[in-house]
Amino acid sequence: MEKVHLNEEKWGAILRPLRFVSKNKFANLPKVKNLEHTLKEALERIKDALPPGIYQEIHSLLEDLEAVSLEEKKLRIKKIFSLLEEGPQKEANNLPSFEDVPIDIETYYSYRKELAKPVQFLKGVGPKIAHKLAKREIKTVEDLLFFLPKAYEDRRRMQPIGGLRVGEQAVVEGEVILSGVVKFKKRRVFEIVISDGTGLLAAKWFHFNEKRYRETFRPGRKVILAGEISAFAGRKEIVHPEVEFPEDEKIGLHVGRVLPVYPVVEGVSPKVLRRIIAHAVEEYAEKAVSPIPAKILKKRGLLPLPLALKGIHFPDPGDDIYLLNEEESVYHKSLAFDEFFYLELALALRKSQIARAPGISFKTQTPRVKKFLKSLPFKLTRAQTRVLKEIEKDMANPYPMNRLLQGDVGCGKTVVAFLAALIAIDNGYQVALMAPTEILAEQHYLNFRKYAGLIGVEIALLTGGKTPREKKTIYQGLEEGHVHLAIGTHALFQETVEFKKLGLVIVDEQHRFGVLQRAALRQKAKGLEPDTLVMTATPIPRTLAMTVYGDLDVSIIDELPAGRKPVKTYLFTAKDRLKAYEVVRRELAKGHKAYVVFPLVEESEKMDLLAATTMAEHLQKELFPSYKVGLLHGKMKPAEKEAAMTAFKEGRTQILVSTTVIEVGVDVPEATVMVIENAERFGLSQLHQLRGRVGRSARESYCLLVAHKLKPGSEAFRRLKILCQTTDGFKIAEEDMKIRGPGEILGTKQSGFFAFRRAHPVRDYDMLVIAREEAFALLEEDPLLEKYPLLKEILMERWQERLKLSEVA
Ligand code: ADP
Ligand code: MG
Repeated sequence: MEKVHLNEEKWGAILRPLRFVSKNKFANLPKVKNLEHTLKEALERIKDALPPGIYQEIHSLLEDLEAVSLEEKKLRIKKIFSLLEEGPQKEANNLPSFEDVPIDIETYYSYRKELAKPVQFLKGVGPKIAHKLAKREIKTVEDLLFFLPKAYEDRRRMQPIGGLRVGEQAVVEGEVILSGVVKFKKRRVFEIVISDGTGLLAAKWFHFNEKRYRETFRPGRKVILAGEISAFAGRKEIVHPEVEFPEDEKIGLHVGRVLPVYPVVEGVSPKVLRRIIAHAVEEYAEKAVSPIPAKILKKRGLLPLPLALKGIHFPDPGDDIYLLNEEESVYHKSLAFDEFFYLELALALRKSQIARAPGISFKTQTPRVKKFLKSLPFKLTRAQTRVLKEIEKDMANPYPMNRLLQGDVGCGKTVVAFLAALIAIDNGYQVALMAPTEILAEQHYLNFRKYAGLIGVEIALLTGGKTPREKKTIYQGLEEGHVHLAIGTHALFQETVEFKKLGLVIVDEQHRFGVLQRAALRQKAKGLEPDTLVMTATPIPRTLAMTVYGDLDVSIIDELPAGRKPVKTYLFTAKDRLKAYEVVRRELAKGHKAYVVFPLVEESEKMDLLAATTMAEHLQKELFPSYKVGLLHGKMKPAEKEAAMTAFKEGRTQILVSTTVIEVGVDVPEATVMVIENAERFGLSQLHQLRGRVGRSARESYCLLVAHKLKPGSEAFRRLKILCQTTDGFKIAEEDMKIRGPGEILGTKQSGFFAFRRAHPVRDYDMLVIAREEAFALLEEDPLLEKYPLLKEILMERWQERLKLSEVA
């Protein structure tokens, strides 16, 4: 199974050299240098996964390995091999057995009710603790079940004190020898010293009740301590250890097992928290029913939800602690699979429902489309032509189109989207283009207007900046049908807006909408379902495409217009920034134009604006007195913005200093250089978008990143490096997602779309893939889920609203 394979990968560092030197009767051993060093390093890396005793033993076998005789070396290596076999505690294929739980819908809901009970219902949880838990968003029993350990400690065996190493997490058992208050730098500290016959260990508390502590830790009493070993004044000690008493009947919860370590809940001790969760799991895990067919789980080597929950909180002593800590245990995988499965099943259902709904059958070869193509100053690329064909095919058939148009910045999506719009318009329908922000809407408007002007299409921009009178005119135009194409934000789909005959909805997602809003928006059309074309400028990693866009067909423009060269990107420190402006000077001298970009960070918008304005003045007066510098920022009125952009386009200004408003849509082919100040403050995808404003012609172009505060090795540094190395939008998007997580990239965090409890599209990618396969296969086998009434019920409960699924009756 896959686990074993993963395991091999992690253990490889130590297994590989061992295998190498021992194969063919140790033929390679005499030739290998530095074996001791290599193995010691590898051992350190897997240390956490090894029972401490075994680690110790291997460690001592490696001591002076280089100095011993060849025969002795062979013996030691054999010994290490056999110890390692004990070590990993292979999580073999002996998963607990299980079958489908035949429960009816009524029982299911009664379970759900129980899981939704406030935490107070649990043993050991009073109002005080409930209040503390609530601060961590743990309100119900179910919340508690899904409050997962952040790590696992190996407390299966007690360690001898003599062998403890500073920095490790340890559990020891010993007898109290001394206890009492000591003074340290004027602070009173309660200290005990324990012995287990192999050594002495101190433990300290800075907060204590002296009387109680003296009683608890009276000399002679046996105690178990757990915590991180530190050193102080040459002695080993644990500060604020967890304490157990061997005579306690509760033993077994905190020691003698693989111990779950939970994220800190302010005001609730780890021990208390563990006990509460233990109760919750014991009483309620069974009720977290999730009726994914057992045959699917078995086929994939996974567990049903209740068993996964039990295991994730209280692993079996035989489980691989390394996999647990890597969140790759069968329990973790099963939990992720469970969540993905419902999502994918919902997406599969939505896709099949849309595919069967009645839609508009457009005539796609209209005279005006042909005329428009002729009037364009360029020929479509092969990729554009191919994608246009795909769109035409969808539009022609009598079902609603539901297609994603992907492509890197500058690949020419806009003209393709316009062609789709033109088809709809020529068929007597209206088109709505929805952008995520007003600025983007404005920029789409400017771009579309360029094309619309070529062919005589009436377009309108509907944004908050319009006066009530202007708005009313547009509303009227839409209602009466003489406005063919309306561009705006989601305001386009407010109650007051009526379309006469909406036929095509174009959504520029910029990763900001997601499935949910898309679904709501179709409902604006009266009568037949309109076609939908979703555009995104930053390529979406395949991983994400499968979730947020899992219900769409995908078209990719994977080719830039002929003659485009990748933008050369360089990183400068603030100290060297004048060098960056030298490049600008060189480009200006060739008659080209330059952008200088300042980040606008919300908290300091005013300051940044000031910085941008000051910078514009500085550039004008000090650096480029013989050129004209323009300024563009989001606080300007639309007319001012347009004036600033037009001046730049027409060459009345040669340098445009701007905040990020130029991110999308601005199109000035003669601009060949962009300086991005404070580049470390931008996200990766955003920088890539910005960079897309240059390199829009056959000329060589440059993007110069100026970082003001940058530590080598920092995340920001990594981001900027990636940008210097590649212009491939897909690669950049993958990297960005690794750094920021999918929710951030999609900006859908608030919308709750990515409110997975623990599944993570990157980390659990393998589960996402198989969940998709299994979900689509199941629907194929049983399109209305007739054999799985409970599954259907849960699907509707979780996703009906969010995905606007119609009842699968
Ligand atoms: P995107 O929206 O994908 O970022 P645009 O549609 O804005 O890209 O196109 C970028 C630039 O390339 C625009 O100036 C556009 O006019 C131009 N362009 C689009 N398609 C072609 C083509 N086939 N050949 C040459 N230039 C093109
Ligand atoms: Mg159609």
